Amino acid sequence: MNEPLLLTPGPLTTSKSVKEAMLRDWGSRDGDFIELTRGVCESLVRIAGADPASGAYACVPIQGSGTFAVEATIDTMVPRNGRLLILINGAYGRRVQEICAYINRDCEILECAEDAPTPVDQLAEVLAADASISHVAAFHCETTSGILNPLPKIAQVVTAAGRKLIVDAMSTFGALPINAEALGLSGVIASANKCLEGVPGMGFAVLKTDDLADAKGNATSLSLDLHAQWQNFQNTSQWRFTPPTHVLAALAQAITEHEGEGGIAGRGRRYADNCRILRDGMAAMGFEALLPNDLQAPTIVTYHAPADPNYDFGAFYDALHAKGFAIYPGKIAKTNSFRIGCIGHIDGDDIRRALAAIAEILDEQNIVSRGGVRSNSQFKP
Ligand SMILES: *Cc1c(COP(=O)(O)O)cnc(C)c1O
Repeated sequence: MNEPLLLTPGPLTTSKSVKEAMLRDWGSRDGDFIELTRGVCESLVRIAGADPASGAYACVPIQGSGTFAVEATIDTMVPRNGRLLILINGAYGRRVQEICAYINRDCEILECAEDAPTPVDQLAEVLAADASISHVAAFHCETTSGILNPLPKIAQVVTAAGRKLIVDAMSTFGALPINAEALGLSGVIASANKCLEGVPGMGFAVLKTDDLADAKGNATSLSLDLHAQWQNFQNTSQWRFTPPTHVLAALAQAITEHEGEGGIAGRGRRYADNCRILRDGMAAMGFEALLPNDLQAPTIVTYHAPADPNYDFGAFYDALHAKGFAIYPGKIAKTNSFRIGCIGHIDGDDIRRALAAIAEILDEQNIVSRGGVRSNSQFKP
């Protein structure tokens, strides 16, 4: 077992028991499997902050990675004559813009720097100025940088303007509260393999049932039509097309472990501890984080690449990997950076071991100047 711990934005390190949940082959039409799907969807509605008993929100799972769920949700929920405002401060926002181009949906963007949160005042102005905007897409944590966007304020502005809000909560779902019902969200999108600590292979959207019921015929894709997927569950309790049976079984186990840890509060606390230990330890070694503490989501931390001429990401990555830790390249435009994740089945001791390994590598590779190059560190669109 020489596999490294995954200190990345996903896929992530999972528990042994989650991996073991995949040792059974399920028939997709078995009563057991149907019940498994129903139970997982009910839990996901609850984690999204809605009451499963009220029926106000429905969870629609979809095969594939998180992006499949994002594309399916936009394609299903935004009518063909609708207009989507995308609140961009990173690559995942730009990806939704790309999705709109593929599926031929009209969109407008409100973009800010990748190290700045969504500007809520400007959002209100854009909505007031353009009555044709029907929907808004927001990102709870923009995983590109690890920034936490002000979701409650965004929701307040969008709802007050009478528009529908769809939230990509991919990298926070299960670790930070979403409160979909209280915030009046039209949809929340996430996947099995981030803070829920399942394995990759399925995403899902928790959607306002009334909005979903109105979405018939919107989708331009057969396999990504969430209304049709939902209808099929309503009528037959079955997934359309082959379900990711093992992935779902792993997710069911992961959700049991999530509940055992104290749900969102317990998981959020562990990640916050991981993040604090990471940030403190890296700062003590002289690394510079892109974001201040108050903008940092406890998910993934972006660091400026050390200015030292001896630093080379490839060599740094390989050395850390050899010591048992996988990190991630940076994704920030115009800034040389790298990222270290603090989510997944890892705890403070794992982070401390990673910090010790980094200290050794700094020594071995003679990286003395660990601060970043400041001159080009700010991305201005
Ligand atoms: C991980 C992630 C996604 C989905 O990425 P996939 O690689 O398709 O799983 C989408 N949005 C955000 C904010 C993410 O962090």
